[in-house]
Amino acid sequence: MSRTVIHGGLVITASDEIHADVLVEGGRVAALAAHGTAAAGSWTADRSIDATGKYVIPGGVDAHTHMEMPFGGTSAADTFETGTRAAAWGGTTTIIDFAVQSVGGSLRGGLDAWYAKADGNCAVDYAFHMILADVNESSLKEMDLLVSEGVTSFKLFMAYPGVFYSDDGQILRAMQRAGGNGGLIMMHAENGIAIDVLVEQALAAGRTDPRYHGDVRKVALEAEATHRAVQLARVAGAPLYVVHVSADEAVAEIAAARHKGLPVFGETCPQYLFLSTDNLAEPGFEGAKYVCSTPLRPREHQEALWRGLRNDELQVVSTDHCPFCFSGQKELGRGDFSKIPNGLPGVENRMDLLHQAVVEGHISRRRWIDIACAAPARMFGLYPKKGTIAPGADADIVVYDPHAEQVISARTHHMNVDYSAYEGKHLTGRVETVLSRGVPVIDRHTYVGRAGHGAYLPRGTCQFTR
Ligand SMILES: [Zn+2]
Repeated sequence: MSRTVIHGGLVITASDEIHADVLVEGGRVAALAAHGTAAAGSWTADRSIDATGKYVIPGGVDAHTHMEMPFGGTSAADTFETGTRAAAWGGTTTIIDFAVQSVGGSLRGGLDAWYAKADGNCAVDYAFHMILADVNESSLKEMDLLVSEGVTSFKLFMAYPGVFYSDDGQILRAMQRAGGNGGLIMMHAENGIAIDVLVEQALAAGRTDPRYHGDVRKVALEAEATHRAVQLARVAGAPLYVVHVSADEAVAEIAAARHKGLPVFGETCPQYLFLSTDNLAEPGFEGAKYVCSTPLRPREHQEALWRGLRNDELQVVSTDHCPFCFSGQKELGRGDFSKIPNGLPGVENRMDLLHQAVVEGHISRRRWIDIACAAPARMFGLYPKKGTIAPGADADIVVYDPHAEQVISARTHHMNVDYSAYEGKHLTGRVETVLSRGVPVIDRHTYVGRAGHGAYLPRGTCQFTR
C-alpha cells in the first residue's frame, strides 16, 4: 500500500487549524500528528511532500457544475475531461454535476446519459444531482429509486418556462416526494413567467444589449420566488436548498426561514461576490461574458452575501460553472440578450477567489474551508469521505501556498473557454499540489493526473437534516 507523508504544513479544516503532519495510506488519511512528535517521526513513506509555510486543506467540493450541458441550442464548452482537469488545477477534487431529464423522458434515461458522458473521462471524483424538467406521476416514483442509488438531490426551476420550468403544483408534489424519501430539493428561484413578460417588453422597446438581461431579472422576482419556494417546502414538510442566491432580499428570505427553524439552506457563487452589473454593462458586447441566471446584481448586494456567509444564512459557495465561449456561443445573442447562453466559467477559480476573501477579511480561514469543502460535502451526503482531513477520509488534499501571487487570465487558465470572467484580477494564494485519493493530480504546478482517475460517487442524503 503506497504511503505519503505531507509534513510541515498548517492543516486547516472547517473546525480546526493545527500544525500537523498528515500520513496518507492507500488513498485515505491514516493519521495526523503534531510536527516533530515521536509519532510523526516514526512514519515511513514512499513519497514525502514538504508543506512548510503552506496550508494543507481538503480538496474543494464544487456542488454545482454543468459540464457539456445543452442550453439555448448550444452546449457548455467544458467536457467532463477538460472541466474536471481545470477543477483539479484550482484545488477542487469533487464536483457534483447535474444530469438532466428531458421533457417527456424518464429520470433513468437522463441519468444514464450523464453517467455515459462522465464515465472514464474525469480527472477527479464526481457525483450527480438530477434536474427534474417534467414532474409527473412516473418521474415522481423514479425519485425514490434515484435516492436509493445515491442520486439524492433534485433541482427544480421556477424560471425558464417551456424548458425546465415547473409550476407550483409540480413543485409541491416533488417536495412532498422528497419529504418522504430523504431527497433534497434544490431550487432555481426566479419568477420566470413574469421575467418572460419583461424580456418581451424590453426587446420590443429595442433594449437588446446584455445589460438588459440583468435589468429584466428583477431582485423582487428572485425574492418573491425564494419566498414562495420556502412556503411550498414548509407546506410539504421538506428541506430546501436555494441555488445561486444573488440578491440581498433573497438572502433575507432564507435568513427569515432559518430563524423560524425551517430546514432551508442557501448557496451563492463567486460571480455574485466579486462581479456586478457594472460588468454586464461593459461596452460593446463584452457584457455577454457575464450573462448568467440569476443575474449579476448591483455591487451593493455583495455585502449581504458576505454577511450571509459569515452568519450561516448561506452555507455553500459553488460555481454554477457553465462556460460558453465568447466567440460563436455568447455571440448567439448579439442583438437579442435573451439568446445569450446563460452561464459563466469558474470551476478553476473558486478556491482561490474564496482565499482572496480570507485575505480581504470577509471570512475566516476555517469558514473558507467550511463553505468550499465541508458544508457542500455534508449538504449532499459525502461527509466525512469528502470535505475534511481526518483519519478515514479520502486523501483529497491540497497543498496551498497562501503567499504566492497570481493574475487570473484566459491565457493561462485550463478551462476550455476563450475568456475569463476575472481577467486581470490579482490574487494572493495559489494551489501548489493536489492529491485525489492519495494520487497526485497536480504536482508543484504541473498536471500529472489522467482522465479516468476520477470515480463516480454515490451519495447519502443531506447531513444537515438528520
Ligand atoms: Zn446551474
